[in-house]
Amino acid sequence: MLSPDFERRMQAFLGPEYPDFAAALEAPASVSIRFNPFKPSDGNEPPLTPVPWHPQAFYLTERPVFTLDPLFHAGAYYVQEASSMFLYEALRQTVDFSKNLNVLDLCAAPGGKSTLLASMLSAGSLLVANEVVRQRLGPLRENLEKWGIPNMAVACAAPEDFAGLEGWFDVVVVDAPCSGEGLFRKDPDAIGEWSPEQVDRCALRQRQILPAAAAALAPGGVLAYSTCTFNRAENEENAAWLAHNFDLEPLQPGIPAGWGIAASEPGYRFYPHRLQGEGFYIALFRKKENPRPLASASTGFRSLQPLPKKLLPELKGWLRADWDVLFFQTPGGEILALPASLEPGFRVLDKVLKNKWFGANIGQFKGLDFIPSHALALSILLHPDLPRVALGREQALRFLKKEVFDLPPERPASGWALACYAGLPLGWMKILRDRWNNYLPNERRIRMDIA
Ligand code: SAM
Repeated sequence: MLSPDFERRMQAFLGPEYPDFAAALEAPASVSIRFNPFKPSDGNEPPLTPVPWHPQAFYLTERPVFTLDPLFHAGAYYVQEASSMFLYEALRQTVDFSKNLNVLDLCAAPGGKSTLLASMLSAGSLLVANEVVRQRLGPLRENLEKWGIPNMAVACAAPEDFAGLEGWFDVVVVDAPCSGEGLFRKDPDAIGEWSPEQVDRCALRQRQILPAAAAALAPGGVLAYSTCTFNRAENEENAAWLAHNFDLEPLQPGIPAGWGIAASEPGYRFYPHRLQGEGFYIALFRKKENPRPLASASTGFRSLQPLPKKLLPELKGWLRADWDVLFFQTPGGEILALPASLEPGFRVLDKVLKNKWFGANIGQFKGLDFIPSHALALSILLHPDLPRVALGREQALRFLKKEVFDLPPERPASGWALACYAGLPLGWMKILRDRWNNYLPNERRIRMDIA
């Protein structure tokens, strides 16, 4: 049940629109997905209704069991609430994505905005997906791994830890922790947690996060601040405070009237009774031009070693030739592929941030034999001509349950092969003379009954 305090606030705020808003909160939340432009599948998709503000996003008529769709596990799409995808349109209008950019997603888990940003960036751009809460890193890393891009780093740092990267990012996104009023119909627990005091606490916490975001932004760079809540303290008041105190100029991307998005200076509001999506607020700012010294790269990595040259030939057949990558080894023996043009940027991050993971973890060597990682199977760096085994839906789900079953006759005779569904890799299998092994990591195994 909604808190009477919340109802009173929204009535005062929305006036005659309140009954429509209250009725929308009783209706089911809409379900939407955003396709991965790097992973087109051969699947026959049913006709879907487009999300107006994102060219690769669509509404579904009902919520399927995503766990039972192999394409979900292949990273073919991300399940994301539609309003929040407006970040795409807002940045498309205000940032030149043909340039190579450093982009920071400061509050990134579980990765909705990060995967959206990843799809907009040039190959020479670097995305840093940061999440301060350690327990939320696993889903963030998994979702980015499924998305498959190598030009990114995941970090676990508090906003103030970015102080050493002052003026380094061309785009900073702060999708702030908030009171979640806009998610009440998606997440009924948020209703019980709501109180006026919680709103005040959230607004204060946002003011503690935003200065670090403003400092990390390069002169001329764009900062996007968003919440999934309705109250003014966390939205317009904090956005105005940010612009005033950090010399940021509010931006007003153009919006067709038919989209149902409400301009509310200095940002935009999304209401569930006006459009197909949940409650959301976003404001965009450009930092005034005012050159500052940039963090410089150190000469090497703190904990990564270049891969010994003698091992390089073995890697050749595993990765596409059109990405120029450098290989490094972690102390644990994992091999990372880092886009060569981004090496200086990764070194800067290495110097400043304590807990971070770079690029694509492609596997490790046992002696002179290369053992490919699950992340490589999902990476867009993967060589397109590697052996594949095409699985139907039921077999794909059995593969994802980590079962072993009779393989179709069209398959390689032996060695490493990719288990594929609708043309997209799901993971590795190793075919031996009279059996095969399923290399899906245990923690990625579907635990649900697939019958
Ligand atoms: N951007 C994510 C997405 O699109 O999937 C959702 C982010 S969620 C709204 C806010 C995130 O901020 C949470 O992952 C939360 O753990 C993190 N967070 C919580 N307290 C924080 C703080 N003090 N500083 C920075 N981030 C914080």
